[in-house]
Amino acid sequence: MDITDALRSKALAIHQRLITAYGTPTWHSGDDPVSQIVNTILSQSTTDVNRDRAYCRLRERFPTWEAVRQAPTAEVQEAIRPAGLSAQRAPRIQAALDTIAGERGELSLDFLRELPVAEAKAWLTHIKGIGPKTAAIVLLFSLGMPAFPVDTHVQRVCRRLGLAPANARAPKIEELIEGLMPAESYYAFHLNLIAHGRRICKSQRPLCPICPLLDLCDYGQRVISNNEITTKTQRHKEETSETDSIS
Ligand code: SF4
Repeated sequence: MDITDALRSKALAIHQRLITAYGTPTWHSGDDPVSQIVNTILSQSTTDVNRDRAYCRLRERFPTWEAVRQAPTAEVQEAIRPAGLSAQRAPRIQAALDTIAGERGELSLDFLRELPVAEAKAWLTHIKGIGPKTAAIVLLFSLGMPAFPVDTHVQRVCRRLGLAPANARAPKIEELIEGLMPAESYYAFHLNLIAHGRRICKSQRPLCPICPLLDLCDYGQRVISNNEITTKTQRHKEETSETDSIS
C-alpha cells in the first residue's frame, strides 16, 4: 500500500468514526449563493449569534441585495454593526455585489452550477475578499457542488490527525482532502470535523484521552507516549527517592 492509499484508508476510517460519534449530516440546500457570500463575509472573526443578528438586520433594512449594493456604505455599516468590523465588512460586501452584478449583469451565481468545480472556485476567488474557504462554502452549501471548505477547526483537526502536514495551510488541506475522500463525503466530513473540533479536539486543550479517534491520530499518539514517558520518569524518580531514603 503506498502512502496515498494508506492516508486514504485512514481518512475513511476517521470519517466512519465521526459518523458513529456525530451522525450523518444530510445535505439540504442552504442560502442562495449570493446570500451565502454575504453571510460568510459577516461570519469571519465573530460569533454565530452576532453574525446572525447582523444578517437579519441587513435583510430587514434592505429588501434586496441590489438595494444593499446601491445603498450608502454608512447605512450598510450601521445595519451590520452587531458583527463587528463593520467599517471593513460593509465595503467588502458591496464590492462583492458590484463584481457579481458588473460581470454577470444580475445578482445571481446560479451559472456556477454549469462550470467544472475548479473553474467555479476560480470565478468566486477572483472576487476581492472571497478566499478559498468562502468559495468552497458557497459551492458546497448553496450549490451542492463537490468542494471541501477548510475552516480553523478543520485545519487544526486535520493537521493533528496527520491527514495534512503540521504546517499545511487551508488551501493545501482542501486540495489534499479532495484528493483523498469521495466527493459525496465532503459535506458530512466537513461538518463532523467541525463538531469534533468544537467538542473534543479543542484548540487549547484537546481531550485526547476520551477521543474516539485516538488510535488513528498522530498527535494523540504522541500525547499518549509522552505521558507514558513522563509517568515512567516520575515512577523512576519516586523509586529512586524511596531507595535513597531506605539506604
Ligand atoms: S486524539 Fe486528540 S489531537 Fe487527535 S483528534 Fe482526538 S482530541 Fe484531537
